Amino acid sequence: MDVVAALVYLAILLSAALGVYLQRRQARAALAHRDAPPVEFAASVTLEQHRRSADYTIARMRLSICETLLEAGLAIAWLALLLGPLYALLSRVIAPGLTLSVAVVVAAAFVDHVLHLPLSLAETFGLETRFGFNRATPTTMLLDELKGAALWLLFAVPLLYGLLLALRLSPDYWWIVGFAGALVFLVAMTIVYPSVIAPLFNRFTPLADEELKARMEALLERCGFQSGGLFVMDASTRSTHGNAYFSGLGKAKRIVFFDTLLRKHTPDEIVAILAHELGHFKFGHVRQRLGLAAGVLFIGFLALHLSFSRGLASAFGLPDDPGVVLVVVMTAGAPILHLLSPLTNYLSRRAEFEADDYARAICGREPMVSALTKLSRDNLATLTPDRLYALFYYSHPPAPLRIAALGDEPR
Ligand SMILES: [Zn+2]
Repeated sequence: MDVVAALVYLAILLSAALGVYLQRRQARAALAHRDAPPVEFAASVTLEQHRRSADYTIARMRLSICETLLEAGLAIAWLALLLGPLYALLSRVIAPGLTLSVAVVVAAAFVDHVLHLPLSLAETFGLETRFGFNRATPTTMLLDELKGAALWLLFAVPLLYGLLLALRLSPDYWWIVGFAGALVFLVAMTIVYPSVIAPLFNRFTPLADEELKARMEALLERCGFQSGGLFVMDASTRSTHGNAYFSGLGKAKRIVFFDTLLRKHTPDEIVAILAHELGHFKFGHVRQRLGLAAGVLFIGFLALHLSFSRGLASAFGLPDDPGVVLVVVMTAGAPILHLLSPLTNYLSRRAEFEADDYARAICGREPMVSALTKLSRDNLATLTPDRLYALFYYSHPPAPLRIAALGDEPR
């Protein structure tokens, strides 16, 4: 076997082993503390609720382990077994050239997505239904799948053609053009996503509660926030998980509350959550996230360039078609992205602490504490995560740490 190929297989296996190890740790931590909620939550979370969140965490980890194993198995299968025959099959009907390369990537993405479907179904209609979160019907899911696939084709096909054309015209510098194009696409998507893409999947209505709206608008003004508005999203059509987020850039900025969150929280808590979202705006977190994504993209394009010039596909006994190389790089790059997740998640958690801090300065400690407690309790987030697992995978710090960071005394 080629040394490079052997290293890639090894990286895939080690990355999966690390994932399973961490997921098992997380399940064990939930089980070990199943009968003992942290003392500081004694008043706000019942033993029954705490046990339920432990059971949910354990069930979720079991599913995650299946997913990790499936992903590693599929990655190896693509490189060793599937990609060659897929290329051979397509090249019987499509002459070698740009279209064949694009078709390889599209077909591989399609097959890969279909092979992942059983686990997505198990998550939505097994796990989420069992714990009372799921509201999606098979029809909702089918429609989401179709819309997602249509959107993917609409964006991916022209981008792939452009990229592969650049490669053909300028074999040495195409990747810089590709990186610049991807960056423009990323920024454009950040701007149009809230108002164009997201409404294809959910309904967004301006916040109707006048009293709450007045309080929120006062807060927006106080923080100097100009936006496309405050919106309520009908998240309850799919799930009862509650959330809020801030998205977009410039005037396209939107603050979105899940209807599920508005139902369960007091006005004080909702205003505190808004203040937290404004914290993200104040500290420029969307821009930071874009900057980080740009860094990862740059490394990705550089890796792609080196893979093309060094003939990575032949290491796996595969044809040197650019479409094949693209699939190989994406498959072989997954373990590297996995290893980067502690860094990206660390930055994300730091941003959450900053936003919490900002919310406390605006609204005080109490509403923030009760909002975080409720969010964590209602989403069945474990209060006793494994430290190593959290370090690796948590994009938001666990509620006990966030509450501890808000301090004991109201400031
Ligand atoms: Zn946040």
